[in-house]
Amino acid sequence: MGEQKTALVLSAHAADFVWRCGGAIALHQKLGYQVTVVCLSYGERGESARLWKEGNTLDEVKSIRRKEAENAAKALNVHDIQFFDLGDYPLVVDEQNKMRLVDVLRAVQPSFMLSHSKYDPYNTDHMYTSELALEVRMIAQAWGHNPGEKVLGAPQLYLFEPHQTEQMGWKPDVFLDITEVWDQKRAAIECMEGQHHLWDFYTNVAENRGNHFRRNSGGQAGGRAAKYAEGFQSVFPRTVDEL
Ligand SMILES: [Zn+2]
Repeated sequence: MGEQKTALVLSAHAADFVWRCGGAIALHQKLGYQVTVVCLSYGERGESARLWKEGNTLDEVKSIRRKEAENAAKALNVHDIQFFDLGDYPLVVDEQNKMRLVDVLRAVQPSFMLSHSKYDPYNTDHMYTSELALEVRMIAQAWGHNPGEKVLGAPQLYLFEPHQTEQMGWKPDVFLDITEVWDQKRAAIECMEGQHHLWDFYTNVAENRGNHFRRNSGGQAGGRAAKYAEGFQSVFPRTVDEL
């Protein structure tokens, strides 16, 4: 038996992991990975407009968002979901919580990580989270940080697709075929009651990326018949023995 394979998702708000990498999560769980999701906030102020319009209080919005995220995580078969509850718009992560995140990274020892695009002028919480992902990855790799603990290797950081792709300077270099887990992703999407307007939008994104998967896996010369896919931009080079 090999070592348990694991992955870590760093999500600024409670629902981001669903739209942007729900397929990758469900697929890797199916492949035998244990996927941990950390939600830094519930997205209670900035990504819950409908719940506010319905007259909920801050605590009610947070608890509804938590429940929705937990249900979505269940639909995706997430191994572990953790809520840091740090607040959003703006998201602020103090030193103590940064170190808490480093501890999670070292405990999980992910084979790869998933987080937001590097740039997002519409949502500074998102770009702050990807910067934080790089920072905690670096700290977790340092032999001088809490000596004696198992240091982190070199997990790839995949940046998942932002909401308005071109505006974020995000350019995918990997397409993942999520067709076989699409039903799970759609079920997870439908757990996000507060953001009905995004359900079909992200179905459409998955179909478009499915088209790109087909085109890049062989096109008319016999590409894979992927119906749904997710795109990612990798931060680090891959180390290979063959091209
Ligand atoms: Zn978000």
